[in-house]
Amino acid sequence: MLLQISEPGQGPDPHQRKLAVGIDLGTTNSLVATVRSGTAQTLPDAGGEHILPSVVHYGSQCTMTGGEARRLAAEDPLNTIISVKRFMGRGIADIQGLNGVLPYRFTRTDQGMPFIETVQGEKSPVQVSADILKTLRRRAEETLGGELLGAVITVPAYFDDAQRQATKDAAKLAGLDVLRLLNEPTAAAVAYGLDDGGEGVIAVYDLGGGTFDISILRLHKGVFEVLATGGDTALGGDDFDRCVASWILQHSGLDMAALTPEEQRKLLDAACEAKVALTDEECIEIVFKDWCATLDRKTFNSLIDPLIDRTLKSVKKSLRDAKLKTVDIDNVVMVGGSTRVLQVRERVAELIGKEPLTNIDPDRVVAVGAALQADVLAGNKSADDLLLLDVIPLSLGLETMGGLMEKVIHRNTTIPVARAQEFTTFKDGQTALAIHVLQGEREVIETNRSLARFVLNGIPPMPAGLARIRVTFQVDADGLLSVSAREQSTGVEAYVEIKPSYGLSEGQITNMLQDSYAFAQEDRSARKLLEARVEAERIYEALESALKKDGNILLLPEEYNHLLSEARRLAEATKSQDVEFIIQVTEQVAKASEVFAGRRMNAGIQAALSGHSVQDLADSVDNSDRLEE
Ligand code: ADP
Ligand code: MG
Repeated sequence: MLLQISEPGQGPDPHQRKLAVGIDLGTTNSLVATVRSGTAQTLPDAGGEHILPSVVHYGSQCTMTGGEARRLAAEDPLNTIISVKRFMGRGIADIQGLNGVLPYRFTRTDQGMPFIETVQGEKSPVQVSADILKTLRRRAEETLGGELLGAVITVPAYFDDAQRQATKDAAKLAGLDVLRLLNEPTAAAVAYGLDDGGEGVIAVYDLGGGTFDISILRLHKGVFEVLATGGDTALGGDDFDRCVASWILQHSGLDMAALTPEEQRKLLDAACEAKVALTDEECIEIVFKDWCATLDRKTFNSLIDPLIDRTLKSVKKSLRDAKLKTVDIDNVVMVGGSTRVLQVRERVAELIGKEPLTNIDPDRVVAVGAALQADVLAGNKSADDLLLLDVIPLSLGLETMGGLMEKVIHRNTTIPVARAQEFTTFKDGQTALAIHVLQGEREVIETNRSLARFVLNGIPPMPAGLARIRVTFQVDADGLLSVSAREQSTGVEAYVEIKPSYGLSEGQITNMLQDSYAFAQEDRSARKLLEARVEAERIYEALESALKKDGNILLLPEEYNHLLSEARRLAEATKSQDVEFIIQVTEQVAKASEVFAGRRMNAGIQAALSGHSVQDLADSVDNSDRLEE
């Protein structure tokens, strides 16, 4: 929070509102909105246009954004960047599939993100997004007549840490203070006021230009929980245009390959115009080159029905993921320009058995919700006004001994949140701790995503299990993670802010979640086995090092040999797949070494062990997990 101080005698005008905006930074289109005279409204440019196409043209003379830039896409495709949101926070490997579809030349990478080569030099996706945001910021400042306090920027619910961080970086570059990143479906639900004291399940159906997202949210005590997300990153209104375009080609006898790029663009524009017109008209005349024909709504519907089928399949799948039925849905919110198509509305209504909410303009609804949230965060509403909260989509945790993931913050925890957990060392004299931060739901680390690794050095040498290392995970209100580790007795610390080099796709997140359900049983058994092995190895190590140190002095030769063979038996048992067997042998060996541990204690040979038998020592650390050097 910023504290503002006014000069003596010049108190702030109580009616002066702080200027804050909501920004929908879309794949196809972007908008900026603010609350004025009590209502949230999107802001138009000087020409009266509210929608800013998310396109940037880097010319040799100047940079253009929006509609102007889009008109140059056909003429100068290499320097006209469209759909840059698809590259945000992603690595080269993540976008390989798009490489053939989009014409750009990708060059060197920074933090895994590919750069795009233009006549103005290399541009990172963050810079391109910043240019879009700058245009919206300027528009807002000119319209509202002042500098902005900050902005709420929306991101898809499935955006991971890297994608969110990239969005924040773009805002910073555009000179915007980010009050919060907000999930797009949550923003849409807020625009409809569904957060007002409501409870229930909300499905947000978002069909944009090139992407389809379905989110199932549960609203409970003012908190939106994302129950499931799904969709298709290559399905949207642009595909409707292509359907109409191929209908035109088919009926006019023209061949796509014979058209110039310019004509191809014109064909798609004609198709898009027809599509939009069919929302209000029963039929529409299409003119292309010297061919002309009428397309009626019924025919249009049959052209796009297979595409709508695909979206409905995703809806059903997400409901299954959320373990819900269509009757459980209390509200359906329609988002995205393509939900203007009547057939889309009708078929969604038919599937869910409920009329979807459509009275707020579907391509403005996300920006409107973001503006409402920005107004609250800027302090223009009273403090007890509901502060909207989001949750983290995948659990966060770290790797412990034996390749297990220990979850520190569980999936669907409301953010902001900080959680700390204590860990200890695995080996005697261990002075460093490797901390491996993971994201995902599975128990075994290989199947989860690695976010970062760092090392805590300078732990004083102590017997295994005595060091106390407190690891704190903090997720801020934007869903960004920082992790710190501190050894309690010395206060040595290490810290990372997580900026993973590239992000997870929506599909990957969905898969990771599904796998975590599918493999839960298998994972639990794997975890038990790994845990048993870790425990066995620990007892083995303790016994072996004690034998080496004091075995000759404190034990009779036959006692020594017996314990040595017990240690070997334990080492052998560790290799077994039988959890119960490993546990049994571990207990037997621990028991067999008790007398020896007692003698060592009495002899006072190892000060650090005084007051503890080997077993006591094991018990005392049972609650903490062990991390290896
Ligand atoms: P995004 O979220 O991907 O940025 P939008 O929500 O702005 O995209 O949706 C853009 C898409 O909506 C485009 O494919 C556009 O053709 C389509 N669209 C806009 N208005 C209409 C309309 N009246 N009828 C049908 N489609 C429309
Ligand atoms: Mg959108």
